[in-house]
Amino acid sequence: MQFIKILLNNLHFVSSKNTQKQKDNHHDAPLSQQYDDVKILSYSNAKTAINKHSTNNNSIIDVPLLTRTANCDRDNSNNSSTTSTVVFDNSAEEAIRHQLDKITPSSDNYDTTVDENPFFIGDLGHLHRQYLKWKSLLPRIEPFYAVKCNPDSVAIQYLASLGMGFDCASKMEIQQVLELGADPDQIIYAQPVKQPSFLRYASQNNVSLMTFDNEDELYKIKEIYPNAKLVLRILVDDFDSAIPLGCKYGAPLGIIDRLLQTIKGLGLDLVGVSFHVGSGCSNDNAFYHAVVRARHVFDRAETFGYQLSLLDVGGGFNDSSVVEGTTFEKVAAVLGPTVDELFPSKDVRVIAEPGRYFVGGPAYTFCFGIIGRRVEESNDHQKAYDYSLSLKQEKNDQENYKLTYYINDGFYGTFQMPILDQLNLNLRVLRKKDIYFYGRELDNNEKKYPCTIWGPTCCSLDRIQYDGYLPELHVGDWLYLENFGAYTIAGASTFNGYEKPKIIHVNSYYDP
Ligand SMILES: *Cc1c(COP(=O)(O)O)cnc(C)c1O
Repeated sequence: MQFIKILLNNLHFVSSKNTQKQKDNHHDAPLSQQYDDVKILSYSNAKTAINKHSTNNNSIIDVPLLTRTANCDRDNSNNSSTTSTVVFDNSAEEAIRHQLDKITPSSDNYDTTVDENPFFIGDLGHLHRQYLKWKSLLPRIEPFYAVKCNPDSVAIQYLASLGMGFDCASKMEIQQVLELGADPDQIIYAQPVKQPSFLRYASQNNVSLMTFDNEDELYKIKEIYPNAKLVLRILVDDFDSAIPLGCKYGAPLGIIDRLLQTIKGLGLDLVGVSFHVGSGCSNDNAFYHAVVRARHVFDRAETFGYQLSLLDVGGGFNDSSVVEGTTFEKVAAVLGPTVDELFPSKDVRVIAEPGRYFVGGPAYTFCFGIIGRRVEESNDHQKAYDYSLSLKQEKNDQENYKLTYYINDGFYGTFQMPILDQLNLNLRVLRKKDIYFYGRELDNNEKKYPCTIWGPTCCSLDRIQYDGYLPELHVGDWLYLENFGAYTIAGASTFNGYEKPKIIHVNSYYDP
């Protein structure tokens, strides 16, 4: 397989120190010779960080380049065709500036290749710190990252090199993590209802650990993958979660005995129990009650002759932007001791499927630009529209309600899942004229207005629900959103031909 060192499009600030490191670690011709428009960037401190904690030889530096795409465009729906990797040693702010300095608002140089597309900054260092925090607060529980939350290949490879397992829900996800260096033993196929051809794929690739929650699935598994190691997903209370999952998956306690009977009759291999308390869980005790239920199912299984050896406590762990209420620390303080008390035998392996915990919080920052606007002194156009959409009337009556912005991402892209999840967006100004405001507030005296924000596609549903205020901005100004990695890019489509945003990676982790 073609391995590639860190590469970066149109970048040229490689320090001599790093160039030397690059040479020391690279046996082939320097990449800059292999790819005309690609320059090698400095090694990230990721390398030392990973190698120190890594149990295998995968390092983020040796990223398999599946194609020679140098422009870093990523299409997750077809992730085997385009993957390229960018890791900066620099801070997020420097990476952002570097990207945006290429587009000057006043540029009269008409260049169609200028990259004005929205982009993410992904901080692998944050993933690393979250991993270490997990290890210290829940040492017995092995995290299996839920790929669906953000299928960023570079992040997945980074996590794989830390020794992380993966929760996959489709053939494509399994394929992706296998290609990125994960071990089949470190994958759980945690989709209780599986497409038969995907099950065949799992069988052919020895991904044997999988969940189920109904009888029909058992017959399907018996036919396609009779040696699979089954994990019974049970229904638990998830009413206090932003996104409950119990309406779709999980066997209620009332049918457990019947399922056990069927498993026994079919001669299948039941190894454990799993649950999911729902994503964005805000109930400290949800995990406690779920573990109690799991214990009950372990006991029932024993009466059918099954000594279960795996407890999977699922996902639902909050990211580090949640600092009050149900923080990860609080959940860990309940979950860890509960598991130890109810499952004292170390013969029971305990795993979890966190998604949001890793890629939410400060891991990803999303940057997007203003590509058009409509300023009308009389609000007629806007009023008519808002009335037809039955938006709040008070807003219409505000005197200064006159700004309409069009941005380069929207409902059919990165914003779809956040909009459907009714996430409160905290839009911040990134660059206004040519002044950067990343991490800073605007001048307090700057007047702010309620505004309408449209996405770039031709569809009128392509609107960002936003209740906040923005200053007067112009075409070429940029905005950003922090804590925007969980369930964002994962839901982006390419409607109207818009590409999914690329991800520029930085690594802020320093080994203490
Ligand atoms: C979505 C999902 C997860 C991840 O949930 P988070 O709330 O992001 O931690 C884990 N397991 C399963 C089965 C899921 O469907």
